[in-house]
Amino acid sequence: MNKRDYYEVLGISRQADAEEMKKAYRKLALKFHPDRNPGDKEAEEQFKEAAEAYEVLRDPKKRQIYDAYGHEGLRGTGFDGFSGGFEDIFSSFGDIFQDLFNFGFGGGPRARTASRPGDDLLYDLTLTFEEAVFGAEKEVQVETLASCEHCDGRGAEPGTEESTCPMCHGSGQVVQSQGFFRISTTCVRCQGVGRVLVSPCAKCNGQGRVRESRTVQVKVPPGVDAGMRLRLRGEGAAGYRGGAAGDFFVRIDVKPHESFERDGENLFSRVSISFVQAILGGEVDFPLLDGTLKTIQIERGTQPGKVIRFPNEGVPRLKGYGKGDLFIQFDVKIPTHVTKRQEELLKEFQGIEKEKGEKKVKKWPWRRKKTEEKNSHAKAYGESRP
Ligand SMILES: [Zn+2]
Ligand SMILES: [Zn+2]
Repeated sequence: MNKRDYYEVLGISRQADAEEMKKAYRKLALKFHPDRNPGDKEAEEQFKEAAEAYEVLRDPKKRQIYDAYGHEGLRGTGFDGFSGGFEDIFSSFGDIFQDLFNFGFGGGPRARTASRPGDDLLYDLTLTFEEAVFGAEKEVQVETLASCEHCDGRGAEPGTEESTCPMCHGSGQVVQSQGFFRISTTCVRCQGVGRVLVSPCAKCNGQGRVRESRTVQVKVPPGVDAGMRLRLRGEGAAGYRGGAAGDFFVRIDVKPHESFERDGENLFSRVSISFVQAILGGEVDFPLLDGTLKTIQIERGTQPGKVIRFPNEGVPRLKGYGKGDLFIQFDVKIPTHVTKRQEELLKEFQGIEKEKGEKKVKKWPWRRKKTEEKNSHAKAYGESRP
């Protein structure tokens, strides 16, 4: 088999320094890494080829021999590529893969199990005023990571199992000897788990999850309010390689209503009555939030701004039983236009009111006197009262 030139393999010039070489190799290793190209024989070959080129060129002695005598020259040194496969490659360039995994593959060296929980999702849901009070069933569309159906979320191609990591033999740790020291580091091949996928799922690349647009049913309970968060357990992103799914949080916002206001579990509204109704009393129909009409009794002599409280007719309590209260305030309408006849009647009415007023003053003349006395008494002591 004709071997390609090592410099050509790494895509570097013959003058490239160690740093350039490392960079070029990292790029290729990341691109053709077996975890990223499951089952791809060509990628596997390119991965091995790049590893071999780097193994030779990073060693100044071997590089010198190679530069002078080519592939033939290396035969005599006992080096003949990585015949052993991945195991040798991973143990030779541990530092490079350490970096690669930290950047490219996530996880980090401290992970103890292969699976990791999925992320929580947050969704902003705006409800109408009525939906918040009475509850609602909503469907929301989310972009999320769902468990891979092909491998059932395990990350392994169906029919295959995980096997003991060939690099650390299942311990998750690799011991390297450096002079007198023996240094134990987390195995970069399996990330310290001790097991590796023999053949990662072709659909999800061994992740156990795939990107998906999903419809989530959100059951909004009666009585929710703006700013509340609903939690749907396990409806978030699927976990990595069978890890628990995250939660789905729905943040509630509520649109204002044109005639109702709300403070917690209490509802507030207004009803308009005529000034005649205010004086004589009567009935008025008030449209409730659910559209039904409620007949409200107006007492004789109702003052503008008077509030009536209807217990247990407000917003359902989210925690506990029953409802809050409904408060209705009276607005008294004053007509801006009256007919001639109405004016006559009002003037007559006014005349009677005036007579009533004069009678009152005559009947109780002492009242005003007493007030005046009080004021002068207060003045004598240096106080002033209105
Ligand atoms: Zn899969
Ligand atoms: Zn391992």
